[in-house]
Amino acid sequence: MEKQPITVTSPLLPDLNEFIPLLKDIWNRKWLTNNGFYHKELEKTLCKYLDIEYLSLFTNGTLPLITALQALRITGEVITTPYSFVATTHAIWWNGIKPVFVDVDPETGNMNPDKIEAAITPRTTAILPVHVYGNPCDVERIKKIADTYGLKVIYDAAHSFGVKINGKSILEYGDLSTLSFHATKVYNTIEGGALVSHSPEQKQHIDYLKNFGFAGETTVVAPGINSKMDEIRAAYGLLNLKQVDSAIEQRKHIVELYRRGLGNVKGIRFIKDIENVRHNYAYFPTFINEREYGMSRDSLYEKLKSQNIFGRRYFYPLISNFATYRGLESAAPDKLPVANRLANEVICLPIYAGLGDEDIERIIQIIKR
Ligand SMILES: *Cc1c(COP(=O)(O)O)cnc(C)c1O
Repeated sequence: MEKQPITVTSPLLPDLNEFIPLLKDIWNRKWLTNNGFYHKELEKTLCKYLDIEYLSLFTNGTLPLITALQALRITGEVITTPYSFVATTHAIWWNGIKPVFVDVDPETGNMNPDKIEAAITPRTTAILPVHVYGNPCDVERIKKIADTYGLKVIYDAAHSFGVKINGKSILEYGDLSTLSFHATKVYNTIEGGALVSHSPEQKQHIDYLKNFGFAGETTVVAPGINSKMDEIRAAYGLLNLKQVDSAIEQRKHIVELYRRGLGNVKGIRFIKDIENVRHNYAYFPTFINEREYGMSRDSLYEKLKSQNIFGRRYFYPLISNFATYRGLESAAPDKLPVANRLANEVICLPIYAGLGDEDIERIIQIIKR
């Protein structure tokens, strides 16, 4: 019998029977967007869940990045990582700022703090790291460097929903942090995102920026954008929040099965497990050493595909190798050896709530063979 295709992820969907009454309520209220009832409820409930004070909902996870740079009036050059989803660097480009890539840590894939200082110039104003796969960056060292050189820090925390370090939300670090609630993420509002800030004034400013800069009916205080979340997605998001803990538990179980099943396979490496972290198990990246494993990452990717199993090469190609950015001095592959190696070795295996043990066992057996 043909097996159903197994994709790298599958969206967490709320119960449709619970969603319909909320839709009816929205129809009755006739208030569809612009900080409506469900929008306010979701901001409040997310703050409680994430254990943070100030969060502004956005219509996706890219516009909070663009807006964060605007809110802090970042200019000149921004130091960032090439090992991420392309939106991280695009946000810098959209602000007319020059991205400066630095290499990553081989164990975690996160920005290597040892490489930051050498990349600082008189034009540098900020650092934009990513907590890749939801694994916290070395936030203390990055803060120290930023403080020493008077730089701002914006974390792209698109992968880090619910992640804590030493019991504290990872979103508390940096001047601002951004989240994505895209359908493929651990927690989704179909499309959506948020910008996490640290004072009522900062949140107010961000809320103006996401609504064209309007600070009142007739007052525009900044050249803002339209990045508002609507009531329908906010209501959907409230329902999904109720099941995200159970989804994270199921993801954890899958990670345990993969680690047990593949732990002894020669030439396969996992990301380093950082201590004292409440993980969200957003992805299960594996790194294939062709010489030791006896097969290249791409061959394994194709082999899985031929069995109807669809891993994803996150993050390949490296952002610095895309046509838009590869002309930059900092994008030269010989300056980013670790990131280039990880991009050539990585394959993320299927992981999502509802993926069965027998499917994981089948994936493990194919990889072991
Ligand atoms: C998903 C993602 C984004 C962009 O989020 P969207 O909601 O798709 O706009 C930004 N950065 C990283 C690292 C991501 O994975």
